[in-house]
Amino acid sequence: MPLRETEAIVLRTYRLGEADKIASLFTRQMGRLRAVARGALRPKSRYGGSLEPLSYLRIQLFERENRDLLQLNSVELAESFFSMQADYQVQLAAQYLAEVGERLLPEHEANERTFRLFLAVLRALKTSKEVNRPLLYFNYWMVRLGGFLPNLATCASCKRAFGDEGGFYSRGSESLLCRDCRHPGGLRIAGAVLSMVRASCHQPLEKWLEAEKAPPGCREARHFFEEIIESHTEKRLITRQMMGEEV
Ligand SMILES: [Zn+2]
Repeated sequence: MPLRETEAIVLRTYRLGEADKIASLFTRQMGRLRAVARGALRPKSRYGGSLEPLSYLRIQLFERENRDLLQLNSVELAESFFSMQADYQVQLAAQYLAEVGERLLPEHEANERTFRLFLAVLRALKTSKEVNRPLLYFNYWMVRLGGFLPNLATCASCKRAFGDEGGFYSRGSESLLCRDCRHPGGLRIAGAVLSMVRASCHQPLEKWLEAEKAPPGCREARHFFEEIIESHTEKRLITRQMMGEEV
């Protein structure tokens, strides 16, 4: 395979032997993949400090016959999100993006809209230092683009409109139900919050952040979508627990 050029966001890196790293990358042209960075752990590595989680890079990749992993040939930093490290909550939020990306993005499947979503949310976290709106936006679109957005207007069982009361969800389910159909112990999400999500997430994130304050219910809605993501992947999100309930 010839050399391929693409843009990529680093989701995670880990050691491979004494001197190499494996990078889990979300690439613009080839989707999510893993590549080996030979010699990345050596002091004068050609990758410098650019191979850090959530760096936005321009890279060259090549594949060698009979090898599963691609090789990183060259790496150039397009945009750094390193400044986010200064704020612990923002840093955790960025790590949350990477974790959800690794869980939800299919391998070797390019997805331009999701790639643009990642960039928009990373930039929003970096410039606004706010967590709730960027993460709600991210969750909503990851679920929607992933094809498992619950119906936010009507009950999944009896199809009745939610109205002001809203819908109920329970852990392990991916749908919203009305009061009559809900499972015991289901949590309510108010009608006003569901309307806010529909209105707010259907505009560019940048524009939404121009409004000074996050609307009420943002955090609650964000947590609701986190439940949906955990139900869908059948696994608890580590970064979600690290962020805690207070954020
Ligand atoms: Zn119902």
